[in-house]
Amino acid sequence: MSADPLVIIGAGQAAGQLVASLAQEGFAGDVIVVGDEPHPPYQRPPLSKKFLAGEIELDRLYVKPEAFYAKAGTRLMLDTRVAGIDRQARAIVSEAGPTLRYSTLVIATGSRPRALTLPGADLEGVMYLRTIADVEAIRRYLEPGRRLVIVGGGYIGLELAAVAAKRGVLVTVLEQAPRVMARGVGSIVSAFYERLHREEGVMIATGTAVLGFEGNGRVEHVICDGARIAADLVVVGVGAIPNTELAREAGLAVDNGIVVDAQCRTQDPVIHAIGDCASQLHPLLDQRLRLESVHSALDQARMTAAAICGRPQPLLQTPWFWSDQYDVKLQMAGLSATHDKVVVRGDPDRGRSFAVFYLRQGVLIAADAVNRAPEFMMSKQLIAERAQVDPAKLGDEQVAMKEVRL
Ligand code: FAD
Repeated sequence: MSADPLVIIGAGQAAGQLVASLAQEGFAGDVIVVGDEPHPPYQRPPLSKKFLAGEIELDRLYVKPEAFYAKAGTRLMLDTRVAGIDRQARAIVSEAGPTLRYSTLVIATGSRPRALTLPGADLEGVMYLRTIADVEAIRRYLEPGRRLVIVGGGYIGLELAAVAAKRGVLVTVLEQAPRVMARGVGSIVSAFYERLHREEGVMIATGTAVLGFEGNGRVEHVICDGARIAADLVVVGVGAIPNTELAREAGLAVDNGIVVDAQCRTQDPVIHAIGDCASQLHPLLDQRLRLESVHSALDQARMTAAAICGRPQPLLQTPWFWSDQYDVKLQMAGLSATHDKVVVRGDPDRGRSFAVFYLRQGVLIAADAVNRAPEFMMSKQLIAERAQVDPAKLGDEQVAMKEVRL
């Protein structure tokens, strides 16, 4: 075995889990994690939830305490940006620092917020939400009576809206699509979330394109289709772009994400890619997917650690995702895009608890569960089994979820 270390580029959620899984698998070599942020690997979901709300401290974000890495024989090189990969020499080149040789390389560079290029988008006070530093900057403005305009009604924008509204901030959400969270959930769930936010005092405008921002050095107004909305702060949440440039420049295939096989290997046998930056052939769903989700990042990290250590690999599970807004937990399992039938359990128009199921040819392929943990848990299992289900039983609150198989 080469004496060169295993190098991980990016110190995010996937990298943190990979180090932990390598230790569990008994990996004996040296590991170096090179990340451009000043923090050890941390979890991002709380950035738009409990950490933003000030309900948990910084150290609760960390995937593992800092001391864990030294114990696991892992060196963290933080504040260090990798500028290139030299596949011939099996080395990475960092922007400021040394060249580092690797025996195995794992690219875990994540994704970055899609930036707006509209007029005034570079004014002070137009922000994005991806890092701890972003939250620290945004939090300073979340005071009662302040006016926050959120561009984009995706889950990050809406989670921010929920935290800000609870603090007495006057929140407006502008969404270009005809409904919120259109990329993640079906229209019934979108309509529910629009009602939820309006009940909590948030102003939501769908079908509204932002044209630009105005202000004297600092943002004062958001300009959109015939309206001029006053703002003390603007946060943009209009999707993410995978960080694939290093891979592309190194000659690795990129197709939306870095192309990897079912074991997260790129076409170079000593280079893997995991997390938001990877586009993987998902064995359960028979399609190539790039998922921006913690569950996917963790699954891929575990699978890669097992592959590197030559162990049998854990099976990929049904993809799932969650979002917390106010007192409502949304849990989504599977992918609904190809459904031909929708079944609803509970009443989406009243209260805050129901589930929507998506079927294709009688098989359950996805579910959106709103404050319905049992429905979510059973759906995950049924989706993995590719189970045929009875739509009448599925929609009947009186029938237990374990009875819905045909
Ligand atoms: P990241 O955690 O982004 O880590 C990648 C790291 O690599 C970053 O630190 C980046 O700066 C660094 N990097 C990039 N390029 C270089 C380079 N050239 N050199 C060195 N370092 C580099 N998912 C859920 O499942 N549920 C949720 O509720 C949820 N909420 C979220 C809320 C927010 C606000 C955000 C931003 C994301 C949320 N996600 C959620 C998504 C989830 O956090 C990501 O899917 C997950 O972080 C992916 O992990 P990763 O390791 O691939 O990427």
